[in-house]
Amino acid sequence: MDFKITEEYALELDNKDPLKEYRSQFHIPVINGKESIYFTGNSLGLQPKTTKQYLEEELEDWKNLGVEGHFHAKHRPWFHYHKFTKVLLAEIVGAKPIEVVSMNNLTSNLHLMMVSFYQPTNKRYKIIMEGGAFPSDQYAVESQVKFHGLKPSEAIVEIFPRSGEDTLRTEDIIDVIKEHGGSVALVLFSGVQYYTGQYFDIRSITSSAHEVGAFAGFDLAHAVGNVKLDLHDSGADFATWCSYKYLNSGPGGVSGIFVHERHANNSELPRFAGWWGHDEGQRFKMEKGFIPMEGADGWQLSNVNVLSSAAHLASLKIFEEAGLEALRKKSSQLTNYLRYLLKSLNSDLINIITPDSEGAYGCQLSIVIKEKGKKVFDELTKAGVIADWREPEVIRVAPVPLYNTFKDVYTFYSILKKTMNL
Ligand SMILES: *Cc1c(COP(=O)(O)O)cnc(C)c1O
Repeated sequence: MDFKITEEYALELDNKDPLKEYRSQFHIPVINGKESIYFTGNSLGLQPKTTKQYLEEELEDWKNLGVEGHFHAKHRPWFHYHKFTKVLLAEIVGAKPIEVVSMNNLTSNLHLMMVSFYQPTNKRYKIIMEGGAFPSDQYAVESQVKFHGLKPSEAIVEIFPRSGEDTLRTEDIIDVIKEHGGSVALVLFSGVQYYTGQYFDIRSITSSAHEVGAFAGFDLAHAVGNVKLDLHDSGADFATWCSYKYLNSGPGGVSGIFVHERHANNSELPRFAGWWGHDEGQRFKMEKGFIPMEGADGWQLSNVNVLSSAAHLASLKIFEEAGLEALRKKSSQLTNYLRYLLKSLNSDLINIITPDSEGAYGCQLSIVIKEKGKKVFDELTKAGVIADWREPEVIRVAPVPLYNTFKDVYTFYSILKKTMNL
């Protein structure tokens, strides 16, 4: 990679960036009178300027129409709201429209998916997952296991990196799945690991889960809107994600699920039901007897959270316009530039734990700064960088292609260099 270590060069890259206009479509937080270097789009994406209008349209329809807004809203009739996000989301996760729906929140959806895809028997009862998964996922899995009367220590198999390594090798994941074979009920991984930034090989993990007769599911909280996903072709049974990280849909925003087409009409799968998953044509007959909608829609419980979905829609339109391919291309350039600059510091104190092989990372770099990590982090914050400190020792930075610049990356590097006296 022939990048250069000058501010002029960073500005030149910005100038040539085909997506450069998108930054102005977002509100950038200001610190001490200056636009911050916002590197936490992996935690809470920034607000698109169009979000306000989408929300106001819903408020207006509610104000003017009351309940009539369900079918006669001037802008987007609420009854159909989940359909407005469907095609855009399908594109983003590499799925067919029938396989996705936006609904609820992430951890709730993870539970709903496990209701369907974790049905332990005496022989087949284990869940294999990455060690150090996001705590909410750990709690969800443990409580599901206990709900079925099993012991987490016996039913949950966590995979950790080899000693001296920071991230998992796909071959090791596959070996563990094989080793546990017919006792595995579910293999549940994140798409991009929140702590290390590692993008797992969804396709290989899915195939080896299927080889031993287990289901494969993925938590894509840090993958959606970040890396290229091919959920349908990967064969994964289910996935779920949130919309407030890379998808910029606002704090606590509506989540989404993917259920593979092969389960679209699978009546063998148990599920928790609600009226919004019931056959749409019959829904208002208010009759007994649940008839699930085909595909992911059949997992819906409640009527759509319209305000949150409006914010979601505003953001998804930007993704559609910018194009996933262009976003991915800029993203890898930004992240590669950041890695290049950090490596040029040639310091034993800095260790980037995010893998560097193509296809094994997204926007985020997880940087361990030995000895004085927290102190360096605090200095960065003072200098106007919004990054993320994760215990025990990692600074996570995620330059995102929609609104971050090469200049942001360069300035971050200069501040870090100065702070560490390198
Ligand atoms: C962000 C994140 C969550 C958060 O869950 P919510 O239900 O949206 O609060 C859960 N799991 C992972 C892996 C995450 O990255």
